[in-house]
Amino acid sequence: MKLDAKAIRYLTSEDFKVLAAVEAGSRNHEVVPTPLISQLSGLRGGSGVNRAISNLAKTNLIAKVKNAKYDGYRLAYGGLDYLALNAHQKQKVVYSVGNQVGVGKESDIIVVAHSSGAQRILKIHRLGRISFRTVKTNRDYLRHRHTGSWMYMSRLAAMKEFAFMKALRENGFSVPEPIAQNRHTIVMSLIDAFPLRQISRVPEPAALYSELMDMILELARFGLIHGDFNEFNILIKEEQDPSAKGKAPATEEEEDENLRLVPVLIDFPQMVSVDHANAEMYFDRDVECIKRYFKRKFHFVSDIPGPSFADARKKLLKNPGKRLDVEVEASGFSRKMARELEAYMKDVGATGDGEGRDDEDEDDEEEEESGSEEEEADDTPENKDSGDIDDSTKRLEELRVSESSA
Ligand code: ADP
Ligand code: MG
Repeated sequence: MKLDAKAIRYLTSEDFKVLAAVEAGSRNHEVVPTPLISQLSGLRGGSGVNRAISNLAKTNLIAKVKNAKYDGYRLAYGGLDYLALNAHQKQKVVYSVGNQVGVGKESDIIVVAHSSGAQRILKIHRLGRISFRTVKTNRDYLRHRHTGSWMYMSRLAAMKEFAFMKALRENGFSVPEPIAQNRHTIVMSLIDAFPLRQISRVPEPAALYSELMDMILELARFGLIHGDFNEFNILIKEEQDPSAKGKAPATEEEEDENLRLVPVLIDFPQMVSVDHANAEMYFDRDVECIKRYFKRKFHFVSDIPGPSFADARKKLLKNPGKRLDVEVEASGFSRKMARELEAYMKDVGATGDGEGRDDEDEDDEEEEESGSEEEEADDTPENKDSGDIDDSTKRLEELRVSESSA
């Protein structure tokens, strides 16, 4: 599943009305009957609706399904993508779409641009994409690929990620700036940096290590555990020491001295509260991930044990931060939604970036230097042609801005 924004320019406002009708019908119908599509679209006369339906089906935004009782249509991932993109475009959040820079197990990451030319990141949540093929399950909604469930769950993941990113950002955490959320997508600021996974040399591993441990503790002080805190979800920005500006470094050591590494945390759909029943397990796992990675990659082992969940709890009690877990709940991402999403992610095997990766690449340090996340993320063909951020600037695809859709 890859976002191909080209066809969006050729869709008319009627096409979009019909697409939105299929979306609306999907909430209650696994297969949306054609007469219902017509009714929900609010368009008078059948021929316009039929033309739109055939247009949308040709572009694979909806798919025809023959039910036992009737024929109808199902919304495809691409259809939902277009509805979200169209909304972002109308709200002037996204003007053009560039390259895909990442394919995760549960998301696509795409560079987009604002009309000012400023680049942003569009993250499209795709819960269940991989697992529908691989996970054997007895759950009805998975076996039958209920359109309603992947749509709803992917939207919940986007809502959750956006709510947490916003709360974290407002409270001084180093995370991207959340800009907008629509359906199963979020738009955020682009961080001009590579994941820790791709950083081959760190001048002072001890300093970065302790900064990351402090980040884990600081999250806990605000009531949160990231839950997937690892080398893929920490971007490392390289900042020049301002006092060294203008002076060209003569040696590698000098270059190191002038360099400050700033970690930026991303990827929040699996975040949990410190009051979660398995909080300690999640906390320990986050800490262990960093410990293991620093040992393997930078041969760095800290003399200080921990931190433990008990340490984090103590800090939380002695010097409490605002409870962001509670704040997010109040902001509209309810506890019920959190539970639904958690159960679904478990069912579809959405385990995040960390799990199941560490053992397979124990001794391939060489490969790590050139390898990117997406190359090893999974075996889908779209991995092959994901470009890098620099390259994508030259290939931004303008979204259609004709009146017909405005
Ligand atoms: P997933 O849930 O699929 O793991 P992530 O949010 O972790 O998705 O993003 C996957 C990859 O995309 C990251 O490892 C990073 O390389 C890139 N990425 C994500 N968000 C940004 C951003 N705001 N700026 C720059 N790169 C990003
Ligand atoms: Mg990730």
